[in-house]
Amino acid sequence: MNVLVINCGSSSLKFQLINSESEQVLAKGLCERIGIDGSLTYQPAGGEKVKSQKAMPTHTEAIQFVIDALTDAETGVVKSLDEIGAVGHRVVHGGEKFAQSVVITEEVKKAIEECNDLAPLHNPANLIGINACQELMPGTPMVAVFDTAFHQTMPEKAYMYGLPYEYYDKYKVRRYGFHGTSHSFVSKRAAELAGKPYDQLKTIVCHLGNGASICAVENGKSVDTSMGLTPLEGLVMGTRSGDIDPAILEFIAKKEDLDIAGLMTMLNKKSGVYGLSNNLSSDFRDLDAAAAEGNKEAEIALDVFCYRVAKYVGSYVAAMNGVDVIAFTAGIGENAGNVREKVVEYLGYLGIELNKEANGVRGEEITISTPDSKVTVMVIPTNEELAIARETVALV
Ligand code: ADP
Repeated sequence: MNVLVINCGSSSLKFQLINSESEQVLAKGLCERIGIDGSLTYQPAGGEKVKSQKAMPTHTEAIQFVIDALTDAETGVVKSLDEIGAVGHRVVHGGEKFAQSVVITEEVKKAIEECNDLAPLHNPANLIGINACQELMPGTPMVAVFDTAFHQTMPEKAYMYGLPYEYYDKYKVRRYGFHGTSHSFVSKRAAELAGKPYDQLKTIVCHLGNGASICAVENGKSVDTSMGLTPLEGLVMGTRSGDIDPAILEFIAKKEDLDIAGLMTMLNKKSGVYGLSNNLSSDFRDLDAAAAEGNKEAEIALDVFCYRVAKYVGSYVAAMNGVDVIAFTAGIGENAGNVREKVVEYLGYLGIELNKEANGVRGEEITISTPDSKVTVMVIPTNEELAIARETVALV
């Protein structure tokens, strides 16, 4: 079956058409600036990437252009919509309602809408994408795959905050966690590569991209994760602060005359390694280059990032009372050998030994610990689209 995987944002939409038997990507692309002017980037497998300007007043036109491209006589990869068996939608927040992926019905859409409060920037956009697809592909089954679902197995002690209980009762304020599709995909793959049963393994997945989170997976279940009610908590990220003393907010608000919106912009967009490096960059390639030339702030940013990752890994070793596999994934986790090396240095007490040669290899699944290492350390490229396609097929 061919599955169309859609990741819909407020003004952009990423897509991949995946054949579920071969697990090959038949075509992929991106619509940008929806509602502003609009452009479509489209690339069939083995073909050239082409970007064209298209008027996209709403997501419906964007998806129509995607369908046109996929079925185009010259550059298309299917003859008609009949060859697309299902659509898998990435949905950011499923609250406590969704512990699994689900086939989308009117009821499901209502339940997703009820989670809008928890992800006001993402869920409404995800719903717009679902509605637009349903309008253009009325007979095609659709599945929602949630970023939060994998973490619904966390115990109360991991998801409750030290806040008045009534906020949980009334507003469901608790840790939800994100990147669940990736943490699930990578931890499963880690078990396969380690040749151990998934339900008998303790894995810590470090998903280190622009947004970054760590997850403790014990016997196939997420038992703790670093992101919280929102994706702002936890690690120091590209532009997000991660954990801070909450009292800093009052202090800075008074000094800088900031309101809540100003504070949130500061925490989400002006902090992280970008803020730490004195606004140099949120990209680790730039920070590495600057640090190599002696830029002090870039060096501090990299140090703070790695130290925070190591602290979380250490805390999840405590949470699971041990660890068998540590897996690195996403843009930084897959590419930045220097970051992995620094993180692993902190974890020598676990008996981890790094194979430096393997750690220098790029872009493939690889074990980067030595055979004698007490914990296996791996690099496993994540593939959220493939994970969504698999979930979708399983449900339809
Ligand atoms: P997201 O999906 O959260 O936007 P990605 O997982 O694509 O993020 O990761 C993007 C980040 O990965 C970049 O901002 C950059 O910091 C880092 N990155 C990508 N390639 C490299 C590389 N070759 N070396 C170091 N860091 C890299």
